[in-house]
Amino acid sequence: MKFNFEDSVMYVKGVGPLRAKALEILNIRTMYDLLTHYPRSYEDQRNVTPIAQARIDEQVVLVGRLSNINFRTARNLKILDAILTDSSGSIQITWFNQEYLLKKFKTGTRLMVIGKIKVNAWSEALSISQINSFAILEPDEEISLGIKPVYASTAALNQSFFRVAIKNLLEKMPPIPEILPAELISEMNLMPLDAAIRAIHFPADELQLSEARRRLAFDELFLIQCGLMLIKRQSREEQCGIICKKNGALVNKLLTSLPFKLTGDQSKTFATVAQDMESKFPMRRLIQGDVGSGKTVIAMLALVKAVENGYQGAFMAPTEILANQHFETFTKMLSGLSVKIGFLSAKVTRSKKMREEIYNQISSGELDIIIGTHALLQEGVNFAKLGLIITDEQHRFGVAQRAALSKKSAGVPDMIVMTATPIPRTMTLTIYGDLDVSLIKELPPGRKPIKTYVKTIRNRKKVYEFVLNEILQGRQAYVVCPLIERSESEKLNYIDPAEEIFEKLSRGVFKDIPCALIHGKLKPSDKDNIMTRFRDGEIKLLVSTTVIEVGVDVPNATVMVIENAERFGLSQLHQLRGRVGRGSEKSYCILVSNSKQGDAKTRLDLMETTADGFELAEQDLKLRGPGEFFGESQHGLPDLKVANVFRDIQTLIEARNAAEKFIANSADLNYFNQLRKNLALAYGDKFNQINQA
Ligand code: ADP
Ligand code: MG
Repeated sequence: MKFNFEDSVMYVKGVGPLRAKALEILNIRTMYDLLTHYPRSYEDQRNVTPIAQARIDEQVVLVGRLSNINFRTARNLKILDAILTDSSGSIQITWFNQEYLLKKFKTGTRLMVIGKIKVNAWSEALSISQINSFAILEPDEEISLGIKPVYASTAALNQSFFRVAIKNLLEKMPPIPEILPAELISEMNLMPLDAAIRAIHFPADELQLSEARRRLAFDELFLIQCGLMLIKRQSREEQCGIICKKNGALVNKLLTSLPFKLTGDQSKTFATVAQDMESKFPMRRLIQGDVGSGKTVIAMLALVKAVENGYQGAFMAPTEILANQHFETFTKMLSGLSVKIGFLSAKVTRSKKMREEIYNQISSGELDIIIGTHALLQEGVNFAKLGLIITDEQHRFGVAQRAALSKKSAGVPDMIVMTATPIPRTMTLTIYGDLDVSLIKELPPGRKPIKTYVKTIRNRKKVYEFVLNEILQGRQAYVVCPLIERSESEKLNYIDPAEEIFEKLSRGVFKDIPCALIHGKLKPSDKDNIMTRFRDGEIKLLVSTTVIEVGVDVPNATVMVIENAERFGLSQLHQLRGRVGRGSEKSYCILVSNSKQGDAKTRLDLMETTADGFELAEQDLKLRGPGEFFGESQHGLPDLKVANVFRDIQTLIEARNAAEKFIANSADLNYFNQLRKNLALAYGDKFNQINQA
């Protein structure tokens, strides 16, 4: 019988309809899915420690019999105590809120426990805390020792189910064919794929595990890199882009009418962009620049260049307020030039008349530059001659959305992605490997550095008196909080939600000052309304959640207080801080925190001393890892099963170099297509999205 990985997981011994159903929750439907449900972690069960030899803080495997089983309730906690005894000694063991175990445990029950040893501060007796896992053993059951996989699971499926089912699958399955060329495997010294997949589930020792991991991580990263390079190659070689002329009268007029001189980095970036636009290849460029580094003017110059060459340009921002701000800036700065600018957002399209009017202006080519939100992606929007697409603050847009916009033009438009999130180089390689990168590191001259202070909650009164003083001198201030309202699960933590802070401030220190509260749960129109009033100086103090994170420009706002600052990542704090310091007045950022230890303190102290967004991003990534760094859904990273783009930097670089060589040397398109299939198999829709871009 032919073995097909795409067949139902029910072909695996030990998996019936009920379990198959339970596996669906984990997105496991086929044998392939189960095979690639790699362990989340491992338990070292190679040695059972005699209880008498267990030491404080050690992770141990103990086997013994239970006695003195005792159940009690103390403050909301259900506590189950017992004593575990082997031939060498005894130790206390405690479970919290697992009342059901009472039914399973009897005096004499044989138990294997894996956990960490701690000492009780009162009695000085040792006990097992942090129980990682435990299993009831039959009286004469042999203990199987080894490194045991620990799988992501659900309540309905336990670890031993996964261990047995995957073992059964591995036994039945034929060797997995190689997907990489043999030369590459030997050159990179990689473990064969079949061995790696078997070893990642059941490694014999640490060395085997790390080799297996390296191989699988390499595959993931290599395939992604090849994919990104194929996209790049395709756009370079197969597609012919728009060819613009050298900068003409319109661009030069804009350059001379700017109210400031471009910084060195801005000039360099625009020169590169102009070159891209003049070449026959479609431009795919990422412009990274810290908040306030002046990316907007680059966008403006590029868009005017497209217009000068007879094309339309689209500029897409993630929020209505940002798009609006760009629209106003453009209208003002391009007023002397004969360029027609339109604005499109959900608000505009709500009225049928306005919608039809602007759709017509876009499709007839009457509008030269269209600035807007996601509304630009809507179906009725058709451009007459779209030549350039710019997306601002791109990490908020999916790759797929970028692709959708480019489909709206008949030819292959140029594309610029701008981001203020400084993305560390390793990340750039992984996510934006298909893009060329420009950096704007230099800030426009005359910026006063933002003074940053870390204060404890005990200093709050002083902090807000300081804020009041600034407001009385005519300035405005932000107060940012991590949460809107108090939630059940956060009760234990000391978090002051925006609602409560707003109540306290607007009735207390700021009772005579116009204050407002803004957060993501408000209707978009209410949000816009509040933001507009704040921008116009009507509202003096704005309490908010992170909705203001994205590039809103209110130069008169000079103070930002961030409450529970330990709750934010460095990059996010830096982004928030970038909302002040936009005018000529001295600006302040005050981080209020009650957390004085560990990572949180390290992070906040860095904010006091570092103004460089890139350095903060690197540190943030180091301290928190990529998931946290990008937030849950924003990162757009392919779903990696094994590789971790931070931990596996070395492998990433190897994979990138290997992919470069491989793509350059291989002329065989069939091989690329096979790779593409493997990619799709391994990364599913995630890759298809990348593929469209
Ligand atoms: P960001 O990169 O965060 O989008 P902006 O493009 O909004 O930054 O620019 C921030 C502010 O700096 C704007 O008010 C803009 O007019 C101003 N600015 C941009 N470039 C320069 C420059 N070369 N010299 C002086 N001011 C500049
Ligand atoms: Mg901006």
